[in-house]
Amino acid sequence: MPAKLIDGKAIAEQINAETVAEIARLKEQHRLTPGLAVVLVGENPASTTYVSMKDRMSARLGLHSERVDLPASTSQGELLAIINDLNFKREIHGILVQSPLPPHISGETIFAEIDPTKDVDGFHPLNVGKLALGDSTGFRPCTPAGVHELLIRSGVKIEGAHVVVLGRSRIVGRPLSLILSQNAPNANATVTVCHSRSANLAEICRSADILIAAIGSPRFVKAGMVRDGAVVIDVGVNRIEDKTAEKGYRLVGDVDFDAVIPKASLITPVPGGVGPMTIAMLMHNTVLAAKMRQGIA
Ligand code: NAP
Repeated sequence: MPAKLIDGKAIAEQINAETVAEIARLKEQHRLTPGLAVVLVGENPASTTYVSMKDRMSARLGLHSERVDLPASTSQGELLAIINDLNFKREIHGILVQSPLPPHISGETIFAEIDPTKDVDGFHPLNVGKLALGDSTGFRPCTPAGVHELLIRSGVKIEGAHVVVLGRSRIVGRPLSLILSQNAPNANATVTVCHSRSANLAEICRSADILIAAIGSPRFVKAGMVRDGAVVIDVGVNRIEDKTAEKGYRLVGDVDFDAVIPKASLITPVPGGVGPMTIAMLMHNTVLAAKMRQGIA
């Protein structure tokens, strides 16, 4: 039996519809319009596309949104000052600084400057610590939170499952491992985190009930790395050259989709899998931040 597709676009639209309804309720009952500021430094084409998508989605769902476009030459001090202003801005409840930042700016320093109550990307050390401690009052990073929602809303049994996460980044792999191994409903998985130094990678992957690839390597996961009936989640977004495509490239994931589809029971496509969920969770987190600020969360 070939795998069934997990339709990330459709699931993200369900979440967006819930967010629209919640924003309408907040406007009506509390005169509260959640606001998101997105900061982009430089002109990385992928980042520019992501920021525009976030901007458009904010407008579509009824959020107040502000976009701050800065030249790549912006100094760390200038960026810190801008974040500090946003920290104090009443109409802004969520702040996102798009990664990657230019090499002369330290991501750690920038993320630590964001008011943790406005840190809708979940990268501030306080929110990272809360996630590690299993304290649900913090913000969860959007991509791992999106993967979690995809699994839940697709009816995948997480409790007791062996989850193998390929990748240990602070943005995806590590927080995902923390979310899925929590002692909490829809979690309680046994999680193995793999990275570039892991030995016996294929063997470990084959033992996964749920295999999640987040490494940034096009079509890395082959059929021989997937157990029959496994659930496969592909977080990877990689541009590969394609002269037949209008832009000269197309997007593929970290999973060799065509080869793996006959083995998996459920699989996410790229694009249209995890990507739309990341934005949906960002909007969700911004509404949550506004409610927390107002004391109505
Ligand atoms: P990252 O920071 O570069 O981290 C990659 C991780 O993968 C590292 O832990 C690295 O190991 C590991 N790795 C790399 N090559 C490997 C290999 N051959 N075998 C095993 N592990 C390997 O990347 P990221 O930010 O987590 O992003 C990962 C992918 O997800 C990228 O394609 C990115 O574009 C995509 N992404 C998608 C979304 C979305 O919304 N859909 C959001 C974020 C990221 P080491 O730690 O040992 O170096």
